[in-house]
Amino acid sequence: MAASNNLSQYLEKEIHCSCGHTHSTNLRRIDIEEGALSRLPQHIKEFGYKNIFVVCDVNTWEAAGKAAERELEAAGLDYYTLVLPDKELVPDEQAVGKVMEVYQKGTDLLLAVGSGTLNDLCKFVSFQLNLDYMIFATAPSMDGFVSVGAALIHNHVKTTYQAHVPVAVLGDPEILAKAPMEMIVAGLGDILGKYTCLVDWKMAHLIEDEYYCEVIDKMVKESIEIVVEESDEIKQRNQEAVKHLMEALVLTGVAMSFVGNSRPASGSEHHLSHYWEMQFQMEGKKPILHGIKVGVGMLAVIKMYEMLEKEAPDFAAAKKRRPDYGSWKKKVCDCYKDAAPGILELEESCGKNSVENRNRRLDVMEEKWTQIRELIQKEIPSGKELEKMMASLGEPVNPQQLGISPELVKDAVILAKEVRNRFTILQVLWDLGLLEEYAEKVAAYFSAGQETYRGQESAQKTA
Ligand SMILES: [Zn+2]
Ligand SMILES: [Zn+2]
Repeated sequence: MAASNNLSQYLEKEIHCSCGHTHSTNLRRIDIEEGALSRLPQHIKEFGYKNIFVVCDVNTWEAAGKAAERELEAAGLDYYTLVLPDKELVPDEQAVGKVMEVYQKGTDLLLAVGSGTLNDLCKFVSFQLNLDYMIFATAPSMDGFVSVGAALIHNHVKTTYQAHVPVAVLGDPEILAKAPMEMIVAGLGDILGKYTCLVDWKMAHLIEDEYYCEVIDKMVKESIEIVVEESDEIKQRNQEAVKHLMEALVLTGVAMSFVGNSRPASGSEHHLSHYWEMQFQMEGKKPILHGIKVGVGMLAVIKMYEMLEKEAPDFAAAKKRRPDYGSWKKKVCDCYKDAAPGILELEESCGKNSVENRNRRLDVMEEKWTQIRELIQKEIPSGKELEKMMASLGEPVNPQQLGISPELVKDAVILAKEVRNRFTILQVLWDLGLLEEYAEKVAAYFSAGQETYRGQESAQKTA
């Protein structure tokens, strides 16, 4: 088994990096070792907290909340607990209200016991209350433990709010390994998404001269490799392997802290995922776990990188193309609906699709095409291999498994890049005039259904 990351080396210090920046994070402690649950009071005491507000839901109460409370009790710590009654907690205004209602003055720490949803909710509330925040993770399901943002549902729309990073992320491998398999494979999907996200980052560096740090890139890349190497063990719920997955998720969060934004964790695969999520929300459909969508999005992006690598672009023709802004605007309005004004505003302020900016980028691409191709060859893993691995864990590999239609695949490829100003392969394809063609091809690829997907389908039928 591969060596574990020594995560603590990144904490409580300023790292003067070869990239010229100084990296640091406000996260002060990581404990994802065996017995972390029994060390919970010790961590709390070392930070000097005296009055703890514990928040969990009915599921995480059973998984770890109850046991955590026993530890606090035995250690003589003052605490009070809120167990949210929801079986499927939605992090919306109501949930925020419920946590605020129970909060008592004089509390000095909010301790969330849970993963994605509880983390977002409690991170947000603790930030609003100017209260330190600690998370005891119950599932390795996403990489937002250490991110600054908190995603909440406001007026039925998911919005990311400014919040803060926890002082500590704790997790007991024994508990993490017992999490629902769907959540574990979601965490894996979120990690696999880093493959394409890191290449997008390097493309942005090459073409747009965006800030890039090789040390952080390597740090994230290594943690993906450990996880991929141990995917079989993850499937077996091996505690050591699940621990490494959790470490990779936390490490990605640290990487985001180091850069100061989500660049090392989120690229085109995340944009596709966000697009699908938005559409599901607008249609009132049940949400799909973030990392599951990211995993499928990553496969779509790999497909596009694989095609791009074989391309011999006609740069002169690409520069002469006149974008049809009228039909672009119509498509944005049709697909983004209520969110369209924000999308149009963003474009107006950053002009990522202007002819001037496009042609400037095309000049750079033309000059560096060999380098770009080499980068793809070197860094993009085999989509087929990844599909096989994901399918063996029961992780979805085809949008159809998530109820995402070919139409929605196509629209996502064409429109996902509009959601924010972050340079990825989707912008490269738009610049080259290839985006619509690739959208068709990716949708057709998934419609035909890969071998692994058909394998999963028939396995389900015979089960
Ligand atoms: Zn650096
Ligand atoms: Zn993610």
